[in-house]
Amino acid sequence: MSRSEELFERAKKVLPGGVNSPVRAFRAVGGNPRFIVKGLGSHILDEDGLEYIDYVGSWGPMVLGHSHPDILKAVYDRMVNGLSFGAPTALEVEMAEKMVAMVPNIEMVRMVNSGTEAVMSALRLARGATGRDKIIKFEGCYHGHSDAMLVGAGSGALTQGEPDSKGVTKGAAQDTLMAQYNDLASVERLLDANPGQVAAVIVEPVAANMGVVPPKEGFLQGLRDLCDKHGALLIFDEVITGFRLAAGGAQEYFGVRADLVTFGKIIGGGMPVGAYAGSRALMEQVAPCGPVYQAGTLSGNPVAMAAGLAQLQILTDHPEVYTVMETSAQYIANHLRASAEKHGVKMQVNQVGSLLCPYFTETPVDCFAAAKISDTKKYAKYFNKMLLRGVYLAPSQFEAMFVSSAHTQKDLTFTVQAADESLAAL
Ligand SMILES: *Cc1c(COP(=O)(O)O)cnc(C)c1O
Repeated sequence: MSRSEELFERAKKVLPGGVNSPVRAFRAVGGNPRFIVKGLGSHILDEDGLEYIDYVGSWGPMVLGHSHPDILKAVYDRMVNGLSFGAPTALEVEMAEKMVAMVPNIEMVRMVNSGTEAVMSALRLARGATGRDKIIKFEGCYHGHSDAMLVGAGSGALTQGEPDSKGVTKGAAQDTLMAQYNDLASVERLLDANPGQVAAVIVEPVAANMGVVPPKEGFLQGLRDLCDKHGALLIFDEVITGFRLAAGGAQEYFGVRADLVTFGKIIGGGMPVGAYAGSRALMEQVAPCGPVYQAGTLSGNPVAMAAGLAQLQILTDHPEVYTVMETSAQYIANHLRASAEKHGVKMQVNQVGSLLCPYFTETPVDCFAAAKISDTKKYAKYFNKMLLRGVYLAPSQFEAMFVSSAHTQKDLTFTVQAADESLAAL
């Protein structure tokens, strides 16, 4: 038995499914999850001493690769002074100032501890500020696991084959309306049918929890216009796209303004952090300024702020990383397409910035319904063949492949060669 197998056996006795987050259990692809010991740059090492080129990157946070020396140093330097105070620290101010400087259309920020918490709080704020109850979300978009958002959620929920969770009350779900991604008419119908009742439309500007589905030309601007017409707020859930597509996230990348923006993943540099942000007028509705309550014992934790701030500083100092990552992702996408064609594998590769996803299907994937017809058994085979060759992909068809600035040309060449062999052997 390998060390990872041994650990998984032990884990299953004390952790549900052996994991602390469902997709890690490898259920969608079969086999035993790898227990990771360490990461350096684009590589990770497991308990059995096996090394992999990592395209999960902790599901997005590790945009600069693992163990970046500046980030580790910032954490060491901060932690020797104490881990948490529950009182303000200078780092929280610096973090908020940094985010406001980098991201368009935000004037104030509230730090929280996860993406889930960021979305949950932003929705409360949207409802509080508009005095309306209903929220429109898109089928296949994931916004964390708060009750109201566990309706038609992608990703882990999708892989489980159980999009709606047990334990979510009708009351919690009844105000969540579901539209189709890339289909403005589906949004308009809901707005028309619920006049004056929709507080916000929440969207992943690039849907990255049903694989990767880019917004069609005009989709995001169309949402902006519909929200303006109906007095609803537009929330961009940038937990994945924030600081990844561009320094200013999807608002900058696509040139569309959101009213509220949620963040997570990258802003913690690998530590557990989330945030929501918007105009001063909106954010001053939040306690202690306004009537919308929201709090957190460990929110703005100094060690987490140190890590996130160091990462954002590197992204500011080296804007070229965005072109580097995009070029790397395009390189992989082009080679995957060529290999699939060469070996007669039906495949669609979607790619935006440093995010990409190969779908095992013939039809272009522009919405959840199209993503769902992908051959997940083929993906599982492909995943396992890649893993054996030392390439660590997301253990599910419905997740993104995350490219970091630490992936070298050597990594990329190795990856596309492994993919070519894996696709040939399907
Ligand atoms: C990961 C994710 C979340 C939830 O973040 P957690 O930190 O896992 O709670 C929310 N929205 C999007 C778009 C995500 O990808």
